[in-house]
Amino acid sequence: MEIKENCGIAGVYGNRKAAEIIYFSLFSLQHRGQESCGIIVSDGKKFSFHRGMGLVWEVFSNGKVEKLKGFSGIGHVRYSTTGSSSEKNIQPFMVEYKGKTYAIAHNGNLVNSYTLRKKLEENGTIFQTTLDTEIIMHLIIRSKKKRFIDKVIDALKKLRGAFSLLIFTPECIIAAKDPWGFRPLALGKLKEGYIISSETCSFDLVGAKYIREIRPGEIILINKNGVKSYNLPAKKISRCIFEFIYFARPDSKIFGKNVYIARKKLGEKLAEEFPYEGDIVIPIPDSGNCAAMGFALKRGIPYEMGIIRNHYVGRTFIQPFQTTRETQVKIKLNPIKEVIKGKRVIVVEDSIVRGTTSRFRIKSIREAGAKKIYMAVSCPPIKFPCFYGIDFPSSKELIANNKTIEEIGKSIGVDGLYYLSLEGMLSAISLPPEEFCTACFTGKYRVKPEGFKGKEQFE
Ligand code: 5GP
Ligand code: MG
Repeated sequence: MEIKENCGIAGVYGNRKAAEIIYFSLFSLQHRGQESCGIIVSDGKKFSFHRGMGLVWEVFSNGKVEKLKGFSGIGHVRYSTTGSSSEKNIQPFMVEYKGKTYAIAHNGNLVNSYTLRKKLEENGTIFQTTLDTEIIMHLIIRSKKKRFIDKVIDALKKLRGAFSLLIFTPECIIAAKDPWGFRPLALGKLKEGYIISSETCSFDLVGAKYIREIRPGEIILINKNGVKSYNLPAKKISRCIFEFIYFARPDSKIFGKNVYIARKKLGEKLAEEFPYEGDIVIPIPDSGNCAAMGFALKRGIPYEMGIIRNHYVGRTFIQPFQTTRETQVKIKLNPIKEVIKGKRVIVVEDSIVRGTTSRFRIKSIREAGAKKIYMAVSCPPIKFPCFYGIDFPSSKELIANNKTIEEIGKSIGVDGLYYLSLEGMLSAISLPPEEFCTACFTGKYRVKPEGFKGKEQFE
């Protein structure tokens, strides 16, 4: 049942083009999930929905969006993780209760879903999916409170872990964020009505004005009376720093801060700390681009797009025949010999997880004739798994978990490797450093997953 995923969610209230706006929002959130997607909308009485496996444009091709009529709705893009790929887990998750339709879209990962599910099942609850999201819906419906919003608050108090949520009812949209504030979620104003999205790049696409980030533990109810805010009991704020390093789009504001600027700053910090000299700086595209730019500016050496990316290779790239991992890496990225030959190259990478792709990338830069290759990574070594939604493998597979930096450098084939320090990383983003979750680097987790027997520390 353990499904770890980071996804994208978007919702609209009070706009006749709700489905179209959600569609474009999901389109802009595609980087947060490519496995499946869905939209549900309501006109206050009737609802309509469409969901499917695939990219947003694929699932909603052939007039599927036009068929969705309503002024409010929610949508979801789901990240694919090996083993958990399944049609029944497509979101928004929908239920019928007392003649009404409810739906929920969830980004993040709960860490007490096992106990919650077991308790519900012992009381006769039948589950349709393996999603922890479904648990939330059951908890809401089962709450003894009278008003729907109180039922929601009651249910969300029982959850531990990461959740940025959108709840759909025929009368209202509810947006909520866990009290630790792990995942981003922002509120915007449309000319007509409101929009909520995981990232603000959606707002730009649909012409919405950014209002603000939803606060940790905040629950926002949007209905015909406007916007009302409620709060869950406060916890220690633990925003996911990996959203800044890798996950979010550079043109988004997350947690109220622009991602591009944060990444460029990470690159500047990295340049200050980096112990090697080079002739040129090259990003591993696209996730290393902003950090490499900051790095090159700080060092005063040329920034070269020395590796070209084939933009038509998606993550869901289907291979017509068995290819080696090396060929796959080459299909996606190709170094330019004329730029690299004879140079001392500083390669900027946003993060190293398993180290396997890095190894092949370095090999091809070497083959392009680099004299020396030094790698600069814009975050510290990732040593511990994430329980809150980032799809890191188990500790065993994380290259930094069982190797020293020198060993990692040898293993991926560089002449020198340097990771940004924890302090350097935290100082690059203008948010309080103690309000970040850095568990994947430090092993210090704020919310303990139940039944977990590893040696990690829990605060
Ligand atoms: P590795 O060398 O560890 O195999 O791969 C590192 C690369 O994976 C980096 O370029 C980084 O941008 C990318 N990466 C980091 N996190 C993720 C993730 O959650 N999913 C995917 N697909 N790539 C990631
Ligand atoms: Mg990358």
